[in-house]
Amino acid sequence: APSGRAPLPVLGRDVTVPLVTGGEVTYAALDYAASAPALQRVWDDVAAYAPHYGSVHRGAGHLSRLSTELFENARRTVAGFLDCRDGDQVVFTRSTTDSLNLLAAALPDDCQVFVFETEHHAALLPWGSPRAAGRGARVTLLDAPDSPQRAVRTLERALAARDPRRPALVCVTGASNVTGELWPVRELAAAAHAHGARIVLDAAQLAPHHAVSVRALDVDWVAFSGHKLYAPFGTGVLAGRADWLREAEPYLAGGGASRRVVRREDGGVDVQWHDGAARHEAGSPNVIGAHAVASACRALTETGFDVLAAHEERLIRTVRDGLADVPEVRFLSLFGDDAPRVGVLSFVVDGWNGSHLAAALSAEYGIGVRDGLFCAHPLLRALLGDDPHHRDECGAPGTAPGGAPLHAVRVSFGAGTPDEHVERFVRAVR
Ligand code: PMP
Repeated sequence: APSGRAPLPVLGRDVTVPLVTGGEVTYAALDYAASAPALQRVWDDVAAYAPHYGSVHRGAGHLSRLSTELFENARRTVAGFLDCRDGDQVVFTRSTTDSLNLLAAALPDDCQVFVFETEHHAALLPWGSPRAAGRGARVTLLDAPDSPQRAVRTLERALAARDPRRPALVCVTGASNVTGELWPVRELAAAAHAHGARIVLDAAQLAPHHAVSVRALDVDWVAFSGHKLYAPFGTGVLAGRADWLREAEPYLAGGGASRRVVRREDGGVDVQWHDGAARHEAGSPNVIGAHAVASACRALTETGFDVLAAHEERLIRTVRDGLADVPEVRFLSLFGDDAPRVGVLSFVVDGWNGSHLAAALSAEYGIGVRDGLFCAHPLLRALLGDDPHHRDECGAPGTAPGGAPLHAVRVSFGAGTPDEHVERFVRAVR
């Protein structure tokens, strides 16, 4: 894209907001890591289909058949987008959180799960859920690494010490929702497989910015969310190996997941469940959501992740260079300030409360960023816990000395972000 022009137009470009200082300004949405604006093209695709939808997998009518075709085409598009292997399944879910909970509910008995403490809660918590724990799942939390190499060594050491007779799963993020840093997914997958473990990639932050190839990364499953991939809320994906999913109890019990239901003599019911993705998609699916996700996958692929990455790289440099000489601003990272990352940067400003800063960016400059602990409390503790400026008496981030809430601030962007939004952000923080 020519310098300064954002590839791929998004919705909301003309939204204006009033400023407390008077006047109005176009809203600068710099919170893509939470939810990215939908692509104009996704909106157009949804609008073209919306008047024609009907129920899927059930009806014989024209619109029902059209919807079924669209839904199953969306599944194929997502499989292509993720470069899935033959035989992999694409299950439509509600979100990454839902996808990882589905996999947690499908763990084989007595599974050992290895997860870094630095993960988003969606990747950290499902393995300890009652459904997983009831089947004997045990979670091993791995310490926050200070380099990608250390991450691989930490995992290797933990896997070498595990009971090799029990099944094992590693869950890792592709890009951190806090630091934006890329994790060494291919190397972690190789380590997992060398020790007989499976691996699931949380691609919620990676998929909107980088091509994700299940084959090249050699991961067993991938999870992502439509609303971070420039599609609307309400649709997620879990894609990957069919075996654990086929052997698991259906995630939800109901129509669509059941192939045959027979009332028994004793009054009970015998059920044969589907084997494919339908096993975990009971109920009427979100066809529009799946269509929107597929549309976003096509748009990103056609634009090219190299074009998107070049745009983001320039915006990252604008932030880093623009704030480099402000000593109070400290960016958060595990792997070092220059580690490769997606367009997600978190920082603290010494002497400033992050939530006040975020509120001022909104009220005075029309800039939307996120502040807080980003659903990654142990990571924030690892990043800030030893810092006397950002620690309460108990050593926990979240409160400053004296009890005032203390939050980091996150700025994030991607396709559709004009340079002006990021330049305004830099000016405002300065
Ligand atoms: N993993 C990561 C890395 C995330 O950033 C998020 C969302 N912040 C999630 C998982 C959860 O995604 P969702 O809220 O769409 O379920």
